[in-house]
Amino acid sequence: AKKEGRGSICFYQQHYEQDLKLQLKVQRELPNALKHHELILYYQPIVSAQGRQLKKVEILIRWQSSVLGFVSPATFIPIAEETSFIFDIERLVIEETFKHAAQYGKENRLIYSINISPKHFESDNFVTYLNEKMLQTGVSSQQIELEITERNLIMQQDAAQKRIEHLKSLGFRIAIDDFGTGYSAISYIKQFAFDTLKMDREFIREMLGNRRDLALTHSIIRMAHNLGMQVVAEGVELEEQAHTLANFGCDYLQGYLYGKPQPLQGVIQAPERQVFH
Ligand code: C2E
Ligand code: CA
Ligand code: CA
Ligand code: CA
Repeated sequence: AKKEGRGSICFYQQHYEQDLKLQLKVQRELPNALKHHELILYYQPIVSAQGRQLKKVEILIRWQSSVLGFVSPATFIPIAEETSFIFDIERLVIEETFKHAAQYGKENRLIYSINISPKHFESDNFVTYLNEKMLQTGVSSQQIELEITERNLIMQQDAAQKRIEHLKSLGFRIAIDDFGTGYSAISYIKQFAFDTLKMDREFIREMLGNRRDLALTHSIIRMAHNLGMQVVAEGVELEEQAHTLANFGCDYLQGYLYGKPQPLQGVIQAPERQVFH
């Protein structure tokens, strides 16, 4: 047993060192991602639970590095958050999304959901910047949803609350992302008026095999509705999950069952015809 223990320490250490090496490479290459236009916007469909019609899209960034190959956002976003690159990356995301929404939004009537990191969300000119983009492009703020996580709210709660209220007064929608993965989720939904609650993939994955997860899923949906929020279930992979969630009154479904993230450019034009069954 002792031997096994040492082996696994070695294994973890090796992984840790590889991780560090990758982190350093990512840090070094990140400026080139922007300079050489290696970042691409993907979108993932979000469908209504009842009619299974395309209603929203979540914008997810992709990095195809000429040096490192494909790098996952789960790897480079946290590194970008340590530097000011997160601003450049997310402004690129916002600009491209608004461009798409300006071109197709009136017709497709989709809601574009964008992930905003805490550092960016907290920055002084974030609201001004968004407002300017809206005015410049003529995009309706009601078609833009900002996904924030509990990490966005930990800092100064009063400031966060003001910011959320300001954004909502401009018409933007706010979603609480990855709900259920943090510590004090309940106190946050008590304090902040979100439009949408995104239930984390963990619940959905365990839902069918675990009665407690099933009960929790159902309760979260009811609680959200009682608080005036709509619910998006993340990571829906099976028809049985979709069916159960629809029966629970869940509003929207997102997951591989309806499509993996795919390139945004020029793809979605006529959502009425895109029904997923
Ligand atoms: P997230 O916001 O929770 O996004 C959902 C992730 O779940 C995406 O991973 C998506 O591809 C994956 N996913 C969706 N449906 C399924 C499913 O049915 N099964 C499974 N196994 N996975 C599914 P992705 O695109 O790799 O993004 C990872 C994370 O990177 C995102 O998690 C988000 O936190 C972050 N991210 C991506 N783009 C941005 C961005 O522009 N800004 C910020 N701040 N974060 C971003
Ligand atoms: Ca998200
Ligand atoms: Ca999420
Ligand atoms: Ca998640």
